[in-house]
Amino acid sequence: KLLIENLSKSFGESQVLNQLSLHVKEAEFVSILGPSGSGKSTLFQLIGGLYSPDSGEIRLDGKRINGKTGSISYTPQSPSLLPWRTVLGNILLGGELVGETDEAAALDMINKAGLKGYENAYPYELSGGMKQRVAFIRSLLSPQSLICLDEPFSALDEFTRLEMQNWLLSVWEEDKRAILLVTHNIEEALYLSDRIIVLSEKPTQVKKEFIVPFPRPRQAALLLSEEFLH
Ligand code: ATP
Ligand code: MG
Repeated sequence: KLLIENLSKSFGESQVLNQLSLHVKEAEFVSILGPSGSGKSTLFQLIGGLYSPDSGEIRLDGKRINGKTGSISYTPQSPSLLPWRTVLGNILLGGELVGETDEAAALDMINKAGLKGYENAYPYELSGGMKQRVAFIRSLLSPQSLICLDEPFSALDEFTRLEMQNWLLSVWEEDKRAILLVTHNIEEALYLSDRIIVLSEKPTQVKKEFIVPFPRPRQAALLLSEEFLH
């Protein structure tokens, strides 16, 4: 699905990524762990096409996407909502860009995310965690086949986080898209993903990689999530 080969990126004198290579398979859920400042968000910005790499390749389904925006769904660490658009307007944005909007699905997700009644609120009226959930819904409703989430649950209380994690799992079990998740939370990575990639300090390379052993806790979690969410 996603193939990254020998990706390097420097900002001025400081080399952040050093010949980093990794891949994500079709319908695979991969988490990335790594020290603060190791370049996880930079990596996502490169995959999302916001920067071009100094060298190396980013391929999606065999096509080179270096520096191309729109190929994947990318939710940044501090998601930016358009201040002049409502919650619903922000969520529909991803689909509008490619001419596919589904207002009913958006409203359904707003309810599921505990944001009922906030459809027409503006970003300044929301808490940090609420904004995070709006950006998260926007990425789930986007049509791309790879979703990159940069610490999507970091601003949430424990209970809401568990709900959102279980929700992400149930969406993923249903539509089987590939997911790449950056998190600082080892438990979260173990709970959600098939495979965990650990990055080194910068100049950053892949330090370790391991498959999460089976059976994973999430089978049980999915059953429980039905109880939690409905
Ligand atoms: P965290 O876990 O704290 O989110 P991270 O792994 O996501 O960290 P990045 O945000 O990718 O780390 O930053 C990696 C390094 O690149 C840092 O040293 C940062 O200062 C530097 N950096 C990132 N973006 C830029 C930029 N636009 N210009 C200059 N330096 C940058
Ligand atoms: Mg980051």
